[in-house]
Amino acid sequence: MTPALQQEIQVTGKLFIGGEFRAAVSEKTFEVTNPARESHLMAVSEGAAADIDLAVKAAQKAFSEGPWPKMSAAERGRLLWKIGDLLLENADELARIETLNNGKPIFESRQIDLPAAAACFHYYAGWTTKIHGETIPVPGNFLNYTLREPLGVCGAIIPWNFPLLMAAWKLAPALATGNTVVLKPAEQTPLTALKLAEILRQAGLPAGVVNIVPGFGPTAGAALVQHPGVAKIAFTGSTEVGKQIMREASGTLKKLSLELGGKSPNIVFADADLDAAVRGAITGIFYGKGEVCMAGSRLLIEQSAHDAFMEKLVERASKMAIGDPLHPKTRIGALVSAAQMNKVLGYIDAGNREGARLVTGGERALVDGKGYFVKPAIFDGVANSMKIAREEIFGPVLATIEFRDLHDAIEQANQTMYGLAAAVWTRDIKKAHRAARALQAGTVWINNYNMLDAASPFGGYKMSGFGRELGQHALDLYTQVKSVWVDLSE
Ligand code: ADP
Repeated sequence: MTPALQQEIQVTGKLFIGGEFRAAVSEKTFEVTNPARESHLMAVSEGAAADIDLAVKAAQKAFSEGPWPKMSAAERGRLLWKIGDLLLENADELARIETLNNGKPIFESRQIDLPAAAACFHYYAGWTTKIHGETIPVPGNFLNYTLREPLGVCGAIIPWNFPLLMAAWKLAPALATGNTVVLKPAEQTPLTALKLAEILRQAGLPAGVVNIVPGFGPTAGAALVQHPGVAKIAFTGSTEVGKQIMREASGTLKKLSLELGGKSPNIVFADADLDAAVRGAITGIFYGKGEVCMAGSRLLIEQSAHDAFMEKLVERASKMAIGDPLHPKTRIGALVSAAQMNKVLGYIDAGNREGARLVTGGERALVDGKGYFVKPAIFDGVANSMKIAREEIFGPVLATIEFRDLHDAIEQANQTMYGLAAAVWTRDIKKAHRAARALQAGTVWINNYNMLDAASPFGGYKMSGFGRELGQHALDLYTQVKSVWVDLSE
């Protein structure tokens, strides 16, 4: 890394607890790297059970005492709005940090992640004053009403693919509903969360309302899940870890929301606008280097359109700009780590061994002699039963599967344990909506891919998890309802 770049990483590599930056109780640190340069970025304090305990205590205190519980809903809304504004004011710096730490193209972090994170805070700022109970017409001489109350301390555990955006998805609704939070970022990518801590302080968020404890899953993460002072865990990550969290959370019967893996089908009918569908297939799988839970990793293509479609698709994929993630024209950045790159290359080997045809990409690439880059890979002739069609690869690898008709497409699309997202490309409005109903997925895109908005719910069917983040639905994840009975008899 050049000295100029090093200067741009002005992050306090410490835990953020009770409004202060502090070293870990153990005084241990861990290394954070730049995957595009295979270089050290900085050392960050390594939180573990003792730090989680301090963070939970700070969050408990902030929930029950001090300015936070006394704050009016409108004031809370103004605070959230301010956080959104500060994210936009600091967007260039935050995007650079995200790109240096995650390897994603600056185009994505600056044009998508940052505006979306700010929009999430702005969206939930509007909700604070609109969360209320109801009066219920019960029989007899009683008044019955409900109170919609926060849960208390919420634990948020997030992955490395959208580090800042995932923090926003968890924090904004949790704070809008009056909770306090302990956030554990992924060990690979803690830097933007720590920068966010500075922004929260600058916005005037009271001490202890949000605490940020970087560290590893089995230590810091597990301690948060098991802590009796934590009311709820909101988790985004792999299905395997999601299952483990569900087991670990059962000891204290925590509320859970899990946003897990996917193997989303992207279905192209022969009557679609094929150029638009090619663009959609490309962004569907290669956006974010394919390290995206909703990636369109299974391309289902109608037999009669297969040849024409594949020709256009392969041509476009082979021309995608792999390069320095900080370059504005780069569209394929570095995978997040050597481990992730090796996992992805392992799946490419498996695809070859199973008899699928690799028609483009699939090998490691270096940029200026370094980096965990993998060329966008497309497999043709894939059967839905193959490993590369069944398992979440979390990398730039597309499995192409042919289908005969709508019935066959839906059957193959649903033949997966996952159900996060799906897309359909067709000019036939009836077929599109019939498919949307039949697909077992939390999000269905018709003639587009990857659309998201803070106002629209997002989450999984089947083993892609449960609970809906974003939109009005996320308010349910962070509130509980109390029924109050008043005797009005004379
Ligand atoms: P990915 O496959 O995207 O790396 P993981 O599911 O492994 O996703 O990790 C997502 C998040 O879950 C990370 O913050 C990680 O540290 C955390 N994590 C991993 N294992 C556990 C665990 N046993 N308990 C709690 N959190 C965990």
